Amino acid sequence: MASHIVGYPRMGPKRELKFALESFWDGKSSAEDLKKVSADLRSSIWKQMADAGIKYIPSNTFSYYDQVLDTTAMLGAVPSRYNWTGGEIGFDTYFSMARGNASVPAMEMTKWFDTNYHFIVPELGPDVNFSYASHKAVDEYKEAKGLGVNTVPVLIGPVSYLLLSKPAKGVEKSFPLLSLLDKILPIYKEVISELKAAGASWIQFDEPTLVLDLEAHQLEAFTKAYAELESTLSGLDVLIETYFADVPAGAFKTLTALKGVTAFGFDLVRGTQTLDLIKGGFPSGKYLFAGVVDGRNIWANDLAASLELLKSLEGIVGKDKLVVSTSCSLLHTAVDLINETKLDDEIKSWLAFAAQKVVEVNALAKALAGDKDEAFFSAGAAAQASRKTSPRVTNEAVQKAAAALRGSDHRRATNVSARLDAQQKKLNLPVLPTTTIGSFPQTVELRRVRREYKAKKISEEEYVKAIKEEIKKVVDLQEELDIDVLVHGEPERNDMVEYFGEQLSGFAFTANGWVQSYGSRCVKPPIIYGDVSRPKPMTVFWSSIAQSMTKRPMKGMLTGPVTILNWSFVRNDQPRFETCYQIALAIKDEVEDLEKAGITVIQIDEAALREGLPLRKAEHAFYLNWAVHSFRITNVDIQDTTQIHTHMCYSNFNDIIHSIIDMDADVITIENSRSDEKLLSVFREGVKYGAGIGPGVYDIHSPRIPSTEEIADRVNKMLAVLDTNILWVNPDCGLKTRKYTEVKPALQAMVSAAKAIRTQL
Ligand code: GLN
Ligand code: ZN
Repeated sequence: MASHIVGYPRMGPKRELKFALESFWDGKSSAEDLKKVSADLRSSIWKQMADAGIKYIPSNTFSYYDQVLDTTAMLGAVPSRYNWTGGEIGFDTYFSMARGNASVPAMEMTKWFDTNYHFIVPELGPDVNFSYASHKAVDEYKEAKGLGVNTVPVLIGPVSYLLLSKPAKGVEKSFPLLSLLDKILPIYKEVISELKAAGASWIQFDEPTLVLDLEAHQLEAFTKAYAELESTLSGLDVLIETYFADVPAGAFKTLTALKGVTAFGFDLVRGTQTLDLIKGGFPSGKYLFAGVVDGRNIWANDLAASLELLKSLEGIVGKDKLVVSTSCSLLHTAVDLINETKLDDEIKSWLAFAAQKVVEVNALAKALAGDKDEAFFSAGAAAQASRKTSPRVTNEAVQKAAAALRGSDHRRATNVSARLDAQQKKLNLPVLPTTTIGSFPQTVELRRVRREYKAKKISEEEYVKAIKEEIKKVVDLQEELDIDVLVHGEPERNDMVEYFGEQLSGFAFTANGWVQSYGSRCVKPPIIYGDVSRPKPMTVFWSSIAQSMTKRPMKGMLTGPVTILNWSFVRNDQPRFETCYQIALAIKDEVEDLEKAGITVIQIDEAALREGLPLRKAEHAFYLNWAVHSFRITNVDIQDTTQIHTHMCYSNFNDIIHSIIDMDADVITIENSRSDEKLLSVFREGVKYGAGIGPGVYDIHSPRIPSTEEIADRVNKMLAVLDTNILWVNPDCGLKTRKYTEVKPALQAMVSAAKAIRTQL
């Protein structure tokens, strides 16, 4: 009985890759240093899996930035603005595509399916000259082999690669990206041939787009692509891996009929229908890679239940054709529980991170083969039982309050335009008011202060003094820049979700449970293990201090319930919406306490609302309904004169614009500048929008400083479709990842652009 891992986190148990990357980018270490850290990480991961007994160990799941960008590099599909001159793609070109450089912006980044991982979107068109320009897949295979580990090299499949790409600038939006299949397959063939020559016996193609709602011609592309690759693939075992949902019936048929393919991988954690499809007909003689260990969450596997499921699958595909696997790459879970010294034993017993999941996969495979580790299985059963009955999980008052929400819509009594009028009387803002999204740069010094306070190395008094000074600095800077609605800069926050989770009941925290978000950026999602409640106010203290430093309105800054939910590891023992309603009630208490403290503008960030959208259209309405409802619950009971802002990352909103309107916020700030103004097309098409709106005027993900003209140009474009009195001027997102040397001139340009346009109105 065999075991397989779809993919593994790259950052390292202590984020070694992050630090190596950032030091390299800052010019503090060499390319060789970066390569060395990376090679050490890869070798320890391969060794760990080999030691655990995993049979099919992946390679090429490491990446310096992103696996889709790696594929772009492999295919030599570098957009012309990076002035790449051919040959093997080096760090310069690679990181310029990822992050932009002094003269050109980065490529667009977007969320990887419904995860919080971001990939770099390929920009393709009829003129791209594809060439085999990165040998990374082969190099990594050889590297592992040199260490004595014969791995399964992993490539993003050619069809998913094209389906995830977009037409380059200047290429018609309707350009059929799949028509490029003929141009990229020859390069895939070269890679496959080299892998074969190097000794590979298996190859894995990730084709996760198979779980989406695909059209017939898109499904046909799979048939065509693998038929074309068949002869090159002959002699290899070929695994097509799918994940994040079940494969729809039509796609299942296409997939299991692919030529040259010998194995199929399915997510059996999220894909509840797949099982029936497999039961209904699985091609004989082919391998089934059964993803029963959850790659998206941190809960220990219910081993007994998995074993039962695996046994039933064994009955269908045969003993020697069933492989135990993870539901998806372990990239989306934390790395290793062993580094969690602060979690108590009870909670720890409920959890499994990537390293533990590897062990679970192997234990299941062995048990299936008749070699069951009884001690491991009974410890697992005891943990499952303790989680079901622990009093720490249940809070009856919270359950009652959440249940009482049903049946009501929770809408503010007055409509948005009347509210905006009432607010303007109080706030007296200029047209095109300027604001920022919340955070200001997080300096080394600031991180040190927080760290030392947490470690009790400095007193509460010293901590409060340091944070107050930081807030004062940020307030003074904003006044100097003449920004209209201020923020306190979020210096007390590590992370917009963790900060709240730490103060709410029902949440647990890890010390090193990092998950890659984009590039070197990682997040440490809280673990929601029990019913959620708010013991005391969370932000009122700092917001009141900040407001006392200025006469201008100071935004209270909260993270909304849907974002807290979507960026946490969520309990898997109750529906997501129930957990979300519980968080909404806690945030509602906070909003009301801020209002009582005299805060007149409150921003409730729902950065992650869009990414929680289910992958299949049929499930959208249900999700949007409870998500938007949760947001409204937070501010339903406040006065008309209190202005509620919300902020969202990523402007791919065209499909959910009506839900956004239904949130009924007074002002929404939205990321925009990196997505070619997709957002504005909605308004061009005539959607009625009466609330305030601030589409971001410059990209904060890049170190590049925008000019006044360029920002003015953007604002003018927006004015062409939006009413002057509802438009706000702000950056795309929070500024915490930037440096003051970037933030100051960028905001200066933003304010002067707004002022210049005001004089022309
Ligand atoms: N208020 C947060 C910040 O500025 C919002 C961050 C986000 O949208 N991701 O950092
Ligand atoms: Zn944002």
